[in-house]
Amino acid sequence: MKILLVASEAAPFAKTGGLADVAGSLPLALRALGHDVRLILPWYQGVAAAHGATAKLGPTVTVTSGIRHHSVTLRQLQHQGLTVYFVDCPELFDRPGLYGDTAGDYPDNPERFGVFCRAVLQALEQLDFVPAVIHVNDWQSALIPVLLRTERRDDPLFAAIATVMTIHNLGYQGLFSQDILTTLGLSPALYGVEGLEYFGHVSLLKGGIVFADLVTTVSPTYCREIQTPGLGHGFDGLLRRRAADLHGVLNGLDPAQWNPAQAGSIPFPYSSTDLRPKGLNKRALQRELGLDVRPEQALVALVTRIDPQKGLDLVAEAAAELMTRPLQLVLLGSGERGLSESLAELGRRHPGRISVNLHFDEGLARRIYAASDLFLMPSRYEPCGLGQLIALRYGAVPVVRRTGGLADTVIDPRDAPRLANGFHFGPATPEALVEALDRALAAREKRRSWLELVRRGMNQDFSWDRSARRYLELYRLAMENARV
Ligand code: ADP
Repeated sequence: MKILLVASEAAPFAKTGGLADVAGSLPLALRALGHDVRLILPWYQGVAAAHGATAKLGPTVTVTSGIRHHSVTLRQLQHQGLTVYFVDCPELFDRPGLYGDTAGDYPDNPERFGVFCRAVLQALEQLDFVPAVIHVNDWQSALIPVLLRTERRDDPLFAAIATVMTIHNLGYQGLFSQDILTTLGLSPALYGVEGLEYFGHVSLLKGGIVFADLVTTVSPTYCREIQTPGLGHGFDGLLRRRAADLHGVLNGLDPAQWNPAQAGSIPFPYSSTDLRPKGLNKRALQRELGLDVRPEQALVALVTRIDPQKGLDLVAEAAAELMTRPLQLVLLGSGERGLSESLAELGRRHPGRISVNLHFDEGLARRIYAASDLFLMPSRYEPCGLGQLIALRYGAVPVVRRTGGLADTVIDPRDAPRLANGFHFGPATPEALVEALDRALAAREKRRSWLELVRRGMNQDFSWDRSARRYLELYRLAMENARV
């Protein structure tokens, strides 16, 4: 099958979050199953710096968006056997950030990604590659199904192409003022409840939900949750109407990239058959971060964006109670300033017991996964979650709120003692969090059964192969939908 995956970020080229991991891994997994998959991304400043010398130049086209004309050049390179195209438009993408800088989001983001979507379709007119399916991701590429089913409806090149849209986080809706329809050169007729209108604004994500042949999200539980008022962000009615075409596919994790046995990535590599070096990683991290060197205390970690979604307020509220338990807390995160400040205050109040590190640091993140006994994710909602999957690989037992992908990947002994790999709690309260951590601490006292639980998590298969097969089934369903 010929598949074009469109994304605003993909590892290893450009990354701010989980979307990049999916868009980087899924095409390779589909390719390994024998399909002709190609990926297309914007040519950001960082991509140009790393790949400017090797990428081939392709055709240049003029992309018209409203009254503006943009000269866009297509670039192309091979990555692990995969053809990756880039949309090069310096006035829109030659900037330090993907979506913004320290001053916030770039104000012309709708135009940047609107032009990107138009350029993708114009690129297909130039290339010798007509996909059976275009798979778009989040609001930045959600305009593609809209364009295909409106402006391009009668174009024979595009008529047979099916579209699939994946929602990676419904909290990001591509919400802009009504006048962007003009900026993007879209018909005013699209402003309406059956189109892109969302409570007096325009939502580009909604465009994808309405016009794609099939919609997916990144875990089965999140797929159900977004159809409820509580977690539907105002889209639950629309999503319920599309329930027959809405599917949850769990993200995978690249086992080669996240491998505690890999020499050089952490101070003391280890595996499920030889866990002893894990204790050395713990001691090294306690020293590095100025924590008391106490092997017997459980090291509880959080590696996270600092955002209300992640439930860190529960940790702040529970901290005093937690400090009466034999544990230490280490947090690595970046994000919202107010919340960061209250977390930093915890670190100052409990030196030697709580270490708060407010920056983005992939190396430190890996040392934390390797050193920790428990990994905490008290998310209020979590579409899939990568942190708990990485933690499982590194033998850091997850303690999570039972929501979204966390509910689908973490099995509590209360539900299935022989399959358990972690602990969860239901209510988003500090009491429920402490109760789950207490159960984990008690389980850790029983050394043999604890090691069994740790090893079970480390040996679980979350590889992309299974998810890629599921996406293929859904691509076929989308093709059937597109035909009717
Ligand atoms: P989300 O995509 O909502 O941020 P996920 O759990 O799906 O949450 O993915 C988070 C990823 O980002 C994980 O790989 C985690 O290790 C990484 N990460 C988050 N914060 C940091 C940080 N401050 N430094 C390094 N890595 C981080």
